[in-house]
Amino acid sequence: MIFRQLFDYDTYTYTYLIADEASGEGVIIDPVKRNLEKYLKLINELNLKLVYAIDTHVHADHITALGELGKQTKCDTVLGKETKAKFVSVYAQEGTPIKFGNLEIHPIYTPGHTDDSYCYLLDNRIFTGDTLLIRGTGRTDFQNGSASDQYDSIFKKLLSLPGDTLVFPAHDYNGMSMSTIGEEKKFNPRLQVANKKEYIDLMNSLNLPNPKFMDIAVPANLRLGLD
Ligand code: FE
Repeated sequence: MIFRQLFDYDTYTYTYLIADEASGEGVIIDPVKRNLEKYLKLINELNLKLVYAIDTHVHADHITALGELGKQTKCDTVLGKETKAKFVSVYAQEGTPIKFGNLEIHPIYTPGHTDDSYCYLLDNRIFTGDTLLIRGTGRTDFQNGSASDQYDSIFKKLLSLPGDTLVFPAHDYNGMSMSTIGEEKKFNPRLQVANKKEYIDLMNSLNLPNPKFMDIAVPANLRLGLD
């Protein structure tokens, strides 16, 4: 399997390029529009055929490359079936794997950060979007976010995965690149709560400023970043 973790220095976003070596079929998760040329060059150099471009959710902090990748590589564009974004060609849903080459990605519906948030499981790797971050969790105070839903998504779904499952988030602001479910269970300060109410109170006390590109990014991303 080909696996690349790419980083956007402007918005601290991780993008993942994953491909099946034998067939050359690949997917990209959470691509950033300003890095489009970098992705196309790498896909070309590795002689891959991009079949899916997937966003874990409608992002508020950067503009997605989904629309441009769809146009330029003819790949399918994927968001969860709950999304309000237009121009999506394949709607992900739990129970329906996304297949490419010999590989399968399993969508897991994890609302909370947004109401269209999904995590994607590939063997022992989980791409957690902004649902579960390394030693953190995604904010729940806009885009129909819900701390209550996020508690259920994390505690009932993600934390029931084997402890050695590798965690690959959509962002990290502290220079960490990956974690495991077991490590997060133990050391993630947001997960050390006794019950759902404590989690909701914790999330409601954060008072975070809005992301600087939010007013531009959200409307753009509802069109998959296309002008
Ligand atoms: Fe987000």
